[in-house]
Amino acid sequence: MMKPCGWLAWLCCASLVVAASSAPGLDYVKIKRNNRVRSVTGRLVVEAQDGGVLIEDQMGVLWAIQPQERISHDEDDLPFERFDVKQIQTRLLAELPAGFRVFTTAHYLVCYNTSTPYAQWCGALYERLYRGFFVFWKNRGWELEEPTTRLIAVVFDNQESYASYADEELGAAANVIIGYYSLQSNRVMMYDLTGVDGLGFGRSRASTAKHVNRILSQPAAERTVATIIHEATHQLAFNCGLQIRYADNPLWLSEGLAIYFETPDLKNSRGWRRIGSVSRVRLPEFRRYLQARPADSLLTLIADDSRFRHPIVRQRNEAYAEAWALNYFLIRRYPRAFVTYLKQLSSKRPLVQDGKEQRVAEFKAAFHGDLEKLDREFLRFMKRVK
Ligand SMILES: [Zn+2]
Repeated sequence: MMKPCGWLAWLCCASLVVAASSAPGLDYVKIKRNNRVRSVTGRLVVEAQDGGVLIEDQMGVLWAIQPQERISHDEDDLPFERFDVKQIQTRLLAELPAGFRVFTTAHYLVCYNTSTPYAQWCGALYERLYRGFFVFWKNRGWELEEPTTRLIAVVFDNQESYASYADEELGAAANVIIGYYSLQSNRVMMYDLTGVDGLGFGRSRASTAKHVNRILSQPAAERTVATIIHEATHQLAFNCGLQIRYADNPLWLSEGLAIYFETPDLKNSRGWRRIGSVSRVRLPEFRRYLQARPADSLLTLIADDSRFRHPIVRQRNEAYAEAWALNYFLIRRYPRAFVTYLKQLSSKRPLVQDGKEQRVAEFKAAFHGDLEKLDREFLRFMKRVK
């Protein structure tokens, strides 16, 4: 099943042009959105030339506010402070439908209405990814800063409860998107694709290990693990300085990187073990695509995000497969240049969108300078991948 990434929907606000950024003190903005009046309190991240603003509230939610939505905007000199974990927990539970519970791990706050063993399994996967993620970049010469607050994950028991909650952010797409990281709320959201709790095992007294075995023996186990890790990779990337929320982040990179990290290992007791295995889903897709791959495929992949938003599912799948392959190739063949390129992207500011020429020029400057030569090398390299 195709797994488009929900957070890309929020890039629609990125046409604004930045004029100023980050003033100290608290901002109080009243807005009208979807016929509802809301009050947003937080710190000003960016103010755009047309009067639009980006405000981070005390829950870590980013509000991209258009001038026409704004009713009033006041400010004072009080310091901005994020809510602590208890305050966040209380507010999350008030916001979610009845029946949700919360537990914390070292780096995560997990809200769930699944069985406890299912949610614990998710929490353990998040922690395993977290450790691997920072080691991965450190080994490549980039010591990223760890998040200062716990990252939030919301795990729903089934598609219905997930879709009714995700509806506000995703609209009708909530029925086809099986999990997502929200750039706005900074949370990951997903549901139990395996339906294992519904089989009557979840509430039983079986040990967590036994329950995880049951999860991993379900037909949807592979996609479940991949989705959990994929979305959590996006979240980590946007919470350690690797990527900047609402900046111009090329989708070939964001998506290819998340797929590079997601690859499940169902022989492992938790279902995922290491970063960067060959994607057993994307490699065959990429091979099929190669049979009729256009000569300018690399250029169209990196120049803009249109192939990831193509109305035809097969074309979107091909973009995801090629994005994975390109990340796989660059990370293995040009690890230093790849990190240098990522560092350059991480210095971009929110609400500024690059044009095609700039994206291509930055890519070329980072890798070789000759797209055709790089493309030939890329294809030769991928032919040997098994
Ligand atoms: Zn994604």
